[in-house]
Amino acid sequence: MILQGRLAVISGFSGTGKGTLVKRLMEEYDNYCLSVSRTTRMPRAGEKDGVHYIFSTDEEFQQMIREDGFVEYAGYVGNYYGTPRAFVEENLARGKDVLLEIEMQGALKVKERYPQALLIFVLPPSFRELKRRLVNRGTETAEVIEQRMARAREEIKYMEYYDYYLVNDDLEECVQKLHKRIQKGDLSC
Ligand code: ADP
Ligand code: 5GP
Repeated sequence: MILQGRLAVISGFSGTGKGTLVKRLMEEYDNYCLSVSRTTRMPRAGEKDGVHYIFSTDEEFQQMIREDGFVEYAGYVGNYYGTPRAFVEENLARGKDVLLEIEMQGALKVKERYPQALLIFVLPPSFRELKRRLVNRGTETAEVIEQRMARAREEIKYMEYYDYYLVNDDLEECVQKLHKRIQKGDLSC
């Protein structure tokens, strides 16, 4: 299959603002599409099946692994998350620029499968601000926030494998930088 669009992977510690950034990018420019991942985690308040994630049982998730239905998948704080392969390949073939908002182990697997993919690491201005954002978002218990902060400290080691870092301080400035970086250069898959 000839893949014509750009493939950009956006990673960063939980609470950095990846979801917010991607949403703004898609509102502003129309050639992007966001891959909806499959997960075994429970929906948060307001999350819709098929929109934010495809919520899935462990059994359904394992079945998709057996069918080679994922570009990549990984475990994260007690649950599985995976990128459905068909959606990504169909949209790249149609010339869409596909965004994956996924954690680091998955990102590295994407790079192995699609070496032209651009790996972007979004950073918070500080760890203190990261915690403030996680607490303010109000979607996780204090215990899960601590687990996610601990995971963030481990995730720093993956930074060196990324193509580009971006500090999400001023949101609108960050959206423009992200767009420019994805569109720059020859990243066609
Ligand atoms: P992630 O997807 O990385 O887990 P979110 O997009 O859910 O993070 O953002 C976490 C919280 O931080 C949200 O409440 C969001 O509104 C807020 N946020 C995102 N970007 C910024 C920013 N540039 N400045 C201040 N707050 C932000
Ligand atoms: P959350 O539970 O906050 O929605 O997501 C937890 C982490 O899983 C985030 O870092 C998010 O980017 C990542 N994630 C979401 N979907 C996928 C996926 O399909 N694959 C991988 N590897 N990570 C994912």
